[in-house]
Amino acid sequence: MLIGVPKEIKNHEYRVGLVPSSVRELIHHGHKVVVETKAGGGIGFSDADYKAAGATIAPNAEAVFAKAEMIVKVKEPQAKECKMLRPGQLLFTYLHLAPDPEQTKGLLKSGATAIAYETVTSPRGGLPLLAPMSEVAGRMSVQVGAHYLEKEPGGAGILLGGVPGVKAAHVTVIGGGVSGTHAIRMAMGMEAQVTVIDRSLDRLRELDEIFGSKLNTIYSTVQAIEEYVQMSDLVIGAVLVPGAAAPKLVTRKMIKSMRPGSVVVDIAIDQGGCFETSHATTHADPVYVVDNVTHYCVANMPGAVARTSTFALNNATLPFTIALANKGAQRACAQDPHLMNGLNIHDGKLTYKAVADALKLKF
Ligand code: NAD
Repeated sequence: MLIGVPKEIKNHEYRVGLVPSSVRELIHHGHKVVVETKAGGGIGFSDADYKAAGATIAPNAEAVFAKAEMIVKVKEPQAKECKMLRPGQLLFTYLHLAPDPEQTKGLLKSGATAIAYETVTSPRGGLPLLAPMSEVAGRMSVQVGAHYLEKEPGGAGILLGGVPGVKAAHVTVIGGGVSGTHAIRMAMGMEAQVTVIDRSLDRLRELDEIFGSKLNTIYSTVQAIEEYVQMSDLVIGAVLVPGAAAPKLVTRKMIKSMRPGSVVVDIAIDQGGCFETSHATTHADPVYVVDNVTHYCVANMPGAVARTSTFALNNATLPFTIALANKGAQRACAQDPHLMNGLNIHDGKLTYKAVADALKLKF
């Protein structure tokens, strides 16, 4: 199969569908890969790196879309890209169609088959092509939290791990799922005092098994959240209620009770955020202050570490990309119900019920 990798065109998107080692892997399986010039330029991959991996370089996106049988991307296709897709062509990328009627219309019109990273499932449960980005955001949340606790960017002037003789900062993570677990790991690695609050007792038991007695596990109630927010230097919001907006678990009153210069990081901001005082920010202007508490609410945190994020995403997508290239979409999906769950659009029809319901379109 001929696989195409265009340069991402969404504002400030530096990730790329395939890294050179993934290109090499596909070529090893007998496929051909065409990559748009400068597609990996933003994260340190030159055209020469892709050529060395066996790809050919196309001068523009049109040349990639015109030739390739499968397009591998990161972000949802922009209007210009939808127009370049053709019937029978396969698109493998994040789509997030439910809130995006324009893109959905464009893809339906194209006649292409579109498989969405975010709805592919795993036999172990969960969403394996979303998980790497939650891992990145979780780990990053502590890194940015530690930075904004420093005096210069407006923080209280607190070192997360303290030093011998001086107590460590208290970090509370609300939601101990994928991103929360990675936040916990980073915060404990930096020797902060860490509490996790979750509404799932089973999850708290698992976290207790993983991290042992150094992690304080607390069942999620209004009172517990109120108590731990007040005593924390850094609070990380990492909750998810599948298919729903994030619950507003931390009220403005609770934020006001925190020590001035404390920090909150709302990872769940892409679902509306779990702090009453949250609103989405960007990497260009990531924080704002409410009641003397710094809020970091960037909706696409992995974009800041685009190179790491691209590798993490490729590790998760590559087995599916290879299966699609080896077998074609029809056979690959027929043989793997989890990949089939990724199928959102085929032959001008919506094939994913939740998207059809959200957009009130025919399924
Ligand atoms: P997850 O499903 O793995 O974990 C969510 C956890 O929240 C679960 O353990 C659940 O029990 C817990 N939870 C739900 N309601 C709760 C409540 N009332 N009190 C306490 N805990 C509660 O989800 P995840 O993959 O970690 O994702 C978390 C959020 O981060 C999602 O909204 C996701 O979209 C978002 N995310 C954001 C970025 C970003 O750049 N900002 C990047 C990746 C993921």
